[in-house]
Amino acid sequence: MDALTDFIIPIIGLKLGEHSYQFNVDRQFFKEFDNTDLQEGCLQVDLILKKRSNHMELMFRAKGSINCLCDRCGGDLKLPLDHQEMRIVKFSQEDFDNTDDVLVIGREDYEINVSHIVYETIFLGLPIRKFHDQETNGQKCDEEVIKRLKEYQKKEANKGVDDRWSALKKLLTDKD
Ligand SMILES: [Zn+2]
Repeated sequence: MDALTDFIIPIIGLKLGEHSYQFNVDRQFFKEFDNTDLQEGCLQVDLILKKRSNHMELMFRAKGSINCLCDRCGGDLKLPLDHQEMRIVKFSQEDFDNTDDVLVIGREDYEINVSHIVYETIFLGLPIRKFHDQETNGQKCDEEVIKRLKEYQKKEANKGVDDRWSALKKLLTDKD
């Protein structure tokens, strides 16, 4: 977990008020999370931590780009990303269940590892469908591939019709 030690923030002795942190995310970071859709990228993550007497507010902002494959043409795609996530960390002596937005840590915990929240911030900032798009990322699909793909789909669709016809024919001839 060496790649993630940079993401540990000491909280014991941290003064009340605002603190800022900066993290760099690259392929070493993504390796730790083992997600085939998210393996390469270069991002900077800013964190503003506001420490209050009984909780902390953590505002993350991930900015940079993710390298992935296009859902349409399968080509390399560099996806720009700019996403913010906020988390609340509560101090408690009792056992509380963590929810999506609220993390509970013990009063005696002296540090917090934010690598998982950084990962979530990046992951949640990704669009559901990733493709070359002039408007959102200024990139174009490989036209040659798209053309071949369309031809293939057309052929497959025709094949479907042919199959249905032969099935029908067979049905009719079997009746005789
Ligand atoms: Zn594409």
